[in-house]
Order: sequence, then C-alpha cells, then structure tokens
Amino acid sequence: MKIAMIGTGYVGLVTGACLAKIGHRVTCVDQDSSKVRALRRGNIPIYEPGLETVVEQAVAKKKLTFTTDLAKAVKANDIVFIAVGTPQASDGRSDLRDVEAAAKQIAKAANKSKIVVVKSTVPAGTCKRVGRILGKHGGEHTFDVVSNPEFLREGDAVNDFLDPDRIVIGTATERAANAMRKLYAPFEPQDVPLVLTSLETSELIKYSANAFLATKVAFINEMANLCDATGADIEALSRGIGLDNRIGRAFLKPGPGYGGSCFPKDTLALTVQAQEADCPVRIVESVVDSNSFHIRRLGRRITDFCAASWGETSNVPLVGKRIAILGLAFKANTDDVRSAASTVIAPLLSKQGAEIVGYDPAADKAITELIPTLERAKSIEEAIKGADAAIVLTEWAEIGAIDWPTMHDLMRQPVVVDLRNLYNTVKMAQNGFYYLSLGRPHIA
Ligand code: NAD
Repeated sequence: MKIAMIGTGYVGLVTGACLAKIGHRVTCVDQDSSKVRALRRGNIPIYEPGLETVVEQAVAKKKLTFTTDLAKAVKANDIVFIAVGTPQASDGRSDLRDVEAAAKQIAKAANKSKIVVVKSTVPAGTCKRVGRILGKHGGEHTFDVVSNPEFLREGDAVNDFLDPDRIVIGTATERAANAMRKLYAPFEPQDVPLVLTSLETSELIKYSANAFLATKVAFINEMANLCDATGADIEALSRGIGLDNRIGRAFLKPGPGYGGSCFPKDTLALTVQAQEADCPVRIVESVVDSNSFHIRRLGRRITDFCAASWGETSNVPLVGKRIAILGLAFKANTDDVRSAASTVIAPLLSKQGAEIVGYDPAADKAITELIPTLERAKSIEEAIKGADAAIVLTEWAEIGAIDWPTMHDLMRQPVVVDLRNLYNTVKMAQNGFYYLSLGRPHIA
C-alpha cells in the first residue's frame, strides 16, 4: 500500500521505516528540512538500535523516501498517517496544534478521498475533531479517520514495531477498517491480536496503557522507599509479587521515577481530560504526584547521603563539590532526554553549589540543546576523575559494567549513589565505596 507519514520523529521514522520493511511504499514527510536532508544522506537523526539498517534497506529497495513537500506526498498516497508531536501544554493538556495543523494541510492538499490515520497520542475525541477539520478544509473530498496509537518503546522501537503485543485500531467506517486490516496483514502469520474498536476507545487505550505502566513504576518506587525505611529488600519484594501472574514481573524495578517524552505528559493529560469530564481519575492523579515527589525526595537523599559520607557538617555541603552524573537519557538505549531524571537532578544539585559533570553514550547532543551549560565528559573515566560523588541515573550496559575497584582511586571521594540498582551492595562496600541504592539493605 502507498503511505504518507506526516512527522518523521521517533514514532514517524520508526513506523515509516518498518511499514516499508514489511512491504509498503512509504513517503516520510517532515517540516524540519535539516532532518529530511540528513535522512536523505543516510544519517539517522535519533539514536535507536537497529533503525539505521531498516532505513538503509528500505531506501535501497526504493520503498522509503523522505521529503518536506507534504502536499505532494498527500496527493501521491491513499493512506496518510499523522505522527507529529503532542507535547504537554502549560495547563497540562495535550497540545494538539501540530495535529490540527497537519490535518488542515492534508485536507487542503487532498486531490481525492483519503484515509487519515492518527498515530500521535491524542485524547479521546480528537480523531472526531480531526475529521471535522478535514471536512471543513477538504472541499468535496471525503476522509475516513482512523486511530492507531503506537506502543513502541524508545530503545527497543524496531523490535516493538515488528513484534508487537497487539495492534489497536479505532475506526468509524468499514472501509477504513478493511484498509487497516490490509495494511497490517503482514502481521497475520505472527498471530498478533488486532483490537478493532471505536475511535474514542482506541484513543483512550493508549492513555490507559501508559497510565497503568506509570502506576506500576510509581508503586514500586514507593515500595522501595518503604523497604529502605523498614530494612526490607525491594529485589525480593519485586520477585515475590511479580511472580504472581496477575501482577507480572515487568515494570517492577525501582528507579528515579518515570520520565521521557510520554509517561509524564500522557498521565497529566489524562487527569486533565478526566477532570473536565467530571470523572476524575484519582489513582492517576496520585501517580503524577507520587512521581514528582519521588524525584524531589531523591534529590534530598542524594545531598544527605553525600554529606554524611563526606563527613560534611556544613548546611551547604555540596558547595565546591564535583559530582559526576552517569547517564543523562531518560532510560538506556535512547538519546531522549525529555523529562529525564538528569534534567531534574543536575539543576537541583547545581543550585546547591555542586559542580556537575555529565556523561552519556548517546544523549550528548540532546542534553546540550536542553541544558547548554552542563559540563559533559567524553567517557565514564573522564566524568569520574576527581569527582566527590558519582550519581548513576541511566541503566546503560556500559554504566552497569563499570569496574568500580579501578575507579576508586580516580575519585576524590568514593561515593556512589545508584538510582538503578546496578551494582552489588556487598561488593561496593568491600571495595571501599559509600554506596546508596534503592530499597536494598544498606551496607556501610
Ligand atoms: P517527535 O517530536 O520526535 O517528532 C515529531 C515530528 O513531527 C518532528 O520531526 C516535527 O518536525 C514533525 N512535524 C510536526 N508538524 C509537522 C507538519 N505539519 N508537517 C510535517 N512534519 C511535522 O515526536 P515523537 O516522539 O515521534 O512523538 C510523536 C507522537 O507519538 C506523539 O504524540 C507521542 O506522544 C507519540 N508517541 C511517542 C512515543 C515515543 O516513544 N517517542 C511512543 C508512542 C507514542
């Protein structure tokens, strides 16, 4: 089938490239001409394992092209995806301006009837609104709007797209449902469940899924704090509850709170929509609160732990101290720093007078755009050299594999705060480190 993909970011590029891989002909459109130029040269603007090969192969087979010319792409294709950003607006809502602008552009460019698939994460009711915009600006042409939310995880996006747990499709017409069945027919041999439903249900499935996962994260972080307070062990606790099939083992690892470009904005947008509909989602509201409380509390714990380890009694213990932050991306295997723990912790410690140096194997460019003043190191060793403490924020394999005994003498003071529970508590203590992790019995 012939597809135009409006928006070539994390979702649009992965979706476009993978749809091309399974046999469709895809034109990826982006208004950012530097992105399109880079892609045409074969440079992938984001860090996403495996994506470069999929793009390269699809381009070589002439199944995938890149353009800034939206009108031409719309005219040449029958199915048009909208995969533009829906960031958080200042009032917590989902900012739908890019979706609406794209819908208007599609309508104006259309030369015949089209199927318009909303891939962006949008609140329930948005697809109907997109339909109205298309109708208003599309002249005599008709449009079938489809909701097809995306569940890929950054860092594992290609695998997630090619081997999905399910495909969710919301439609209001049989014609659109049939077109979507045909589009995803290559997944039939894999027995991927297809959830075919209404537009609003499909839109809400995406928010519910993210809110549920965020709830698991917030829950296990609270349990980890309680483990610290009671001497219990979060790892045994996670295993003990996760082995219950009704609970499941995934998403039960404590950390610095959920971040990234989806959970924070989607949970908040859901609470706002629910309040406006006069049926507040109290659990999700608490999750949003719990997550922001957690990261702020961790900020205080880092300061207190470092001060105690250094034997520093001043009420401004971080002044003049050098602190290395290991991992700046919101999770491993991505360069995405949107709402990452580093973007909260680094300014927080820096405000208390610490000199911060950050290291990340992939997020250098992204963090520079967000926090231009942050000093960055080119390697773990460079970051750690002369540091009074190291704070582990991202679970990159390279960071998990740090050979701490060899780092001991590089540091000014051997203090490690590990917010991903990557290292063995006993070994860290035996190797002479003051070591803090989450919810695991502390060994001094
Ligand atoms: P992104 O910011 O990486 O990419 C959006 C792209 O759309 C940008 O390159 C921008 O230039 C382009 N764009 C905006 N308006 C345009 C227009 N009118 N014409 C052409 N290009 C236009 O965003 P993303 O992370 O890919 O997210 C896209 C959507 O998918 C969001 O709604 C997000 O919530 C959702 N989503 C994201 C993820 C994720 O992991 N990133 C996962 C699932 C769902």
